[in-house]
Amino acid sequence: MELDAGLAGKVAIVTGGSRGIGRAIVELLAAEGADVTFFFRDNADAARTVVATNRAAGRKVSSEQVDVRDSKACAAAVERVAEGKGRVDLLVNNAGIIRDNPLSAMDDDDVALVLETNVGGVFNVTRAVVPHMIMRRSGKIINLSSVAGEKGGRGQTNYAASKGAINAFTRSLAVELAPRKITVNGVAPGVIETEMSQAVRDLAGESVMSRILLRRYGKPEEIAHAVWFLASRYADYITGQIIAVDGGFKME
Ligand code: NDP
Repeated sequence: MELDAGLAGKVAIVTGGSRGIGRAIVELLAAEGADVTFFFRDNADAARTVVATNRAAGRKVSSEQVDVRDSKACAAAVERVAEGKGRVDLLVNNAGIIRDNPLSAMDDDDVALVLETNVGGVFNVTRAVVPHMIMRRSGKIINLSSVAGEKGGRGQTNYAASKGAINAFTRSLAVELAPRKITVNGVAPGVIETEMSQAVRDLAGESVMSRILLRRYGKPEEIAHAVWFLASRYADYITGQIIAVDGGFKME
């Protein structure tokens, strides 16, 4: 039996697609035939590489330099995509940052930047996309959460608060948009091999690894596979869920 996820020709926006998990998501959705526009913040070289390698492989991938903290820039970029491509079928809110520190050592920026990016950014992009999905009574929204949204982690009060907020946001928006036939789900990665987790893996590798049942870190592609599933027609009857993809993190 051949699988057909129904992603061919879908118009997708992925935030933070220039590196790490976002890049893997862009590449998988585009390989499945989706027309993908990704946002990035400032790493233009990385963004150019993602566009070029995917176009060389015959995929439809474009990039836009959009800081998700800037609501006006988000609204304008989403309008450009919707106007240019006629609709938005799929939104993956992936852009996120980490600024770990014990609470007493956290400065204003550590708190503000994490919340403005990881929470504010999701509000800014989703608010701009939703009217386009409502118009068509169809769409799928997938938010990147984290194990930190459910389980405590030292030095992560800011990040954990941001991802707990994303879980709550996901469940509430699922309720709000279900009557419009739009699904909203989340993927909560464990420790994945990207630049974001490098410091944690370097500093606390042993103790972190001892809490992962499968005794290895995840790969960006393994998160992309979960996003692919939630974006596919096989997930048409799933909404308001947060799927953990974490190798069994902290379950012992
Ligand atoms: P990376 O640091 O590898 O990549 C982050 C991406 O987000 C980059 O493309 C970056 O753009 C973009 N980005 C950051 N801030 C902004 C902004 N203000 N506006 C637009 N784009 C922005 O992160 P990961 O791939 O590791 O993480 C992706 C998501 O997965 C995040 O939401 C993260 O919280 C979550 N996650 C990751 C885990 C991990 O272990 N890696 C674990 C659990 C959750 P640029 O290249 O321009 O800087």
